[in-house]
Amino acid sequence: MDRRRRIPRTDTVLADPRLVAAAVRLGRHRVKDAVAAAAALARAGRLDPGDLADAALAALPPAATGLRAVINATGVLVHTNLGRAPLSPAALDAVRLAGRTVDIELDLVDGRRAPRARTAVDALAAAVGGAVGAHVVNNNAAALTLVAAALAGGREILVSRGELVEIGDGFRLPALLAAAGARLREVGTTNRTHLADYAEAVGPDTALILKVHPSNFRLTGFVAEAPVAALATLGPPVVHDIGSGLLVPEPLLPDEPDARTSLRAGAALVTASGDKLLGGPQCGLLLGDPELVGALRRHPLARALRIDKLTAAALEATLTGPEPPVTAALRADLAGLRRRAEAVARAAGGAPAVVDSTATVGGGGAPGVDLPSVALALPAAAAAGLRTGTPAVLGRVAGGRLLLDLRTVDPADDAALAARLAAR
Ligand SMILES: *Cc1c(COP(=O)(O)O)cnc(C)c1O
Repeated sequence: MDRRRRIPRTDTVLADPRLVAAAVRLGRHRVKDAVAAAAALARAGRLDPGDLADAALAALPPAATGLRAVINATGVLVHTNLGRAPLSPAALDAVRLAGRTVDIELDLVDGRRAPRARTAVDALAAAVGGAVGAHVVNNNAAALTLVAAALAGGREILVSRGELVEIGDGFRLPALLAAAGARLREVGTTNRTHLADYAEAVGPDTALILKVHPSNFRLTGFVAEAPVAALATLGPPVVHDIGSGLLVPEPLLPDEPDARTSLRAGAALVTASGDKLLGGPQCGLLLGDPELVGALRRHPLARALRIDKLTAAALEATLTGPEPPVTAALRADLAGLRRRAEAVARAAGGAPAVVDSTATVGGGGAPGVDLPSVALALPAAAAAGLRTGTPAVLGRVAGGRLLLDLRTVDPADDAALAARLAAR
């Protein structure tokens, strides 16, 4: 009998309960396409017609998104290309809940409209402590845009020449402030800016003084900068972009600024990212003087920059729930990392060597801070295969070897990592 005649009809294959379930998860179109592709293979004689359903199932993605899961073995804690901070299981649960209909802007007790995302905003203020005002926008770039537009439109913002930073993928501070309608006034020099430089520049047109954390580079040598406490004596409000999003001091990163310390030193406002060292979803945190925060919240641009309910839910869970993965990775002790590395190497068949490594926080903060770590070493040629499989595994190539750094791998992914290595 002709092989083509034995190929089952698409509808018959689609009735396979596993494909019916897949259609519920992924949509019928996608499943039908996978069956059609498998049928084409069978017609070409490259697939047994009896294996149509199995082949279609294997070709289907795990979820209805083109995004692929990646195990971050780069040793870079906050990896922008991998979506920065991974969310905690508690935050993921919160997102799942918020994805349905929720009281994001409603008081269920009196049935009236309520301030948007108030539980997340309250949790943020409480985490910093004191009578601090809080507001959350789409990201830190949006926070700075709102500050510039609402508080410095058509007026001057003083910034040190040593802090005119570019963060990556389009974030250039001077261009952003100008786009928001503020005028930038540069003070000091690249390596040294003194309080007197700011003091000389302050005038009737000064709307605010902006201090920016150089979060992805370090100035060393003959350098000087004016601290927030000194700047706060000059008169105009001091806005401190701390970048990383630490709300309180982190003992492991003593040089990294945090919101509480900066506000106590006299900053009128602090801006930060939510998806760096805070370990939460992408968002921009605005903290400080309740009156200034109120002005930001009322500005027309606030509506364009507001967060969605998923972000609000994830942020609140990050602030109030268990330790987020970024914090766990930062604090993981070396002996534990070594034990995990050895267990993964054993489960993988013992081929990868366990070696010392150095992890970093990443563009999200703490430039120049080395975090001692442990890695699995493989031939550099293994990189492409690991990167393109499922789940994708991304390491870093150094000294002709591929290093898979355990500090940035979620312990829950150790088994999947070992399985990928064993299958090489
Ligand atoms: C990361 C960073 C930004 C940009 O923050 P996004 O949340 O990515 O918009 C701005 N300023 C500093 C100091 C940063 O570190």
